[in-house]
Amino acid sequence: MKEYDVIVVGSGPGGATVAREMSRKGKKVLLAERGGRWNWLGNTLSVAMILQNSGLTGSKTFPPFTQVTIGNNYGGTSTIICGCAVPPPRKVFDDVGIDLSAEAEEARQELWAGKLPDELVGEANLRLMEAANDLGYHWHKVDKFIKVDKCIPECADCMMGCKRDAKWSARFYGDEAIAQGAELALHTRIEEVIEENGKAVGVKGLSHGKPVSYYGKRVVLSSGIGNVGILRQAGIREAGQTFAVDFLQFVGGVSPHINTSKTQPMAVGTLEHYESDGFVVLSVFPTWSQLGVLLAMKGPQHIPRVRNAFKYTGLMVKIQDDLKGKIHPGNRFFPFTKEPSRNDKLRLAKGVEIMKKVLRKVGASDESIVELNPSGAHPSATCRIGDVVDTNLETPITNLYCCDASVIPAALGLPVVWTVVALGKRLAKHLERTFQ
Ligand SMILES: Cc1cc2nc3c(=O)[nH]c(=O)nc-3n(C[C@H](O)[C@H](O)[C@H](O)COP(=O)(O)OP(=O)(O)OC[C@H]3O[C@@H](n4cnc5c(N)ncnc54)[C@H](O)[C@@H]3O)c2cc1C
Repeated sequence: MKEYDVIVVGSGPGGATVAREMSRKGKKVLLAERGGRWNWLGNTLSVAMILQNSGLTGSKTFPPFTQVTIGNNYGGTSTIICGCAVPPPRKVFDDVGIDLSAEAEEARQELWAGKLPDELVGEANLRLMEAANDLGYHWHKVDKFIKVDKCIPECADCMMGCKRDAKWSARFYGDEAIAQGAELALHTRIEEVIEENGKAVGVKGLSHGKPVSYYGKRVVLSSGIGNVGILRQAGIREAGQTFAVDFLQFVGGVSPHINTSKTQPMAVGTLEHYESDGFVVLSVFPTWSQLGVLLAMKGPQHIPRVRNAFKYTGLMVKIQDDLKGKIHPGNRFFPFTKEPSRNDKLRLAKGVEIMKKVLRKVGASDESIVELNPSGAHPSATCRIGDVVDTNLETPITNLYCCDASVIPAALGLPVVWTVVALGKRLAKHLERTFQ
């Protein structure tokens, strides 16, 4: 029977980071991933193939229908990110006494984080930034996880997966782990932890539909909301009793001068309201297919607006939402309950007002402006530090850890990848110490 040093469940940014770091340290690593490896990127079909339930995973309670986007594929959700790079906020981690600054700095270059030149940011984004600053806001270019020499102007395909490998995704860390000797088990869905005398010694699940068991000295769960079912099965009832989604809301308008349909998503915006009001505003709008779904959710009478999909100039507000919500493991299409609280709605409304002002400033008429319904951006905070895991990310079961967006102690309200990678690097340092 083969025994691994570290078994990592889930190949998103959290899991891939731990797998990469531990294999670099010479450890025998297994990276188990529920999905496959979809390689035909950059089109609408890719999104449907990569996402759980083709993107239609939602809350049990509706209306309003809270939908979240969860990747089930090698690289996790990071394969279809906008590539927006924001380091871990102290605001969220100071409360639990964790300082991620060293790990975040270590990640900066590895994730290719930096500003893009004007030609890649695009005319529409630059005009939006200028308009917002004329109104007295403080917009700037936002860092992106993008290799400038591989990216091309007038391409907005980040959210469909980058076919040029110009955008960082967890696949790069996963591939490095494999090159360093880690094993990747695709189509392998882990369902249970194997315990002996109160210690985790392995995991069980289905690989290509057949029962499998893997044994390891340390087990790291990085499967997002998937962690909750595995932990509940192991008797950890606290898992999944809180839930944040970083609610977002898009507002678009048709301007005679510009549109963002062929523009780098989330390349400009502002974080100036984050510390005081818990929201950020960034330039991005759904792709035509996402827009169709979001208009249908707003109401059938709005569907005809999809004809403007390639004319809209779009912005998004993203908030730190309240932790109200729960996970219901085992429910395939509706695995949680979550709706915006009164406080969440107030935060979103503040952002919407700012976005409308900016859109009017670039020439969008009030009749053209469409406010889409709030939706969930980042499922997180289901296995929080201080609640389900300790500050070393260990659960009450010895040698069983969680490392992904689920451990974040409060809603981040920001792009998540850099934070999760920093958490993965920090956990790897701790794991290395436990082997000494
Ligand atoms: C459209 C969109 C755009 C985004 N843009 C940005 C951005 O620009 N910048 C940014 O920083 N963030 C962005 N995000 C957020 C970011 O993608 C996620 O927050 C991040 O991927 C979370 O990483 P994770 O490791 O926690 O989980 P995930 O990336 O969700 O990975 C979890 C993995 O676990 C696997 N898994 C689940 N259950 C099991 C199981 N039982 N057994 C085995 N494997 C399992 C899944 O298949 C998946 O691969 C975006 C998200 C979306 C939806």
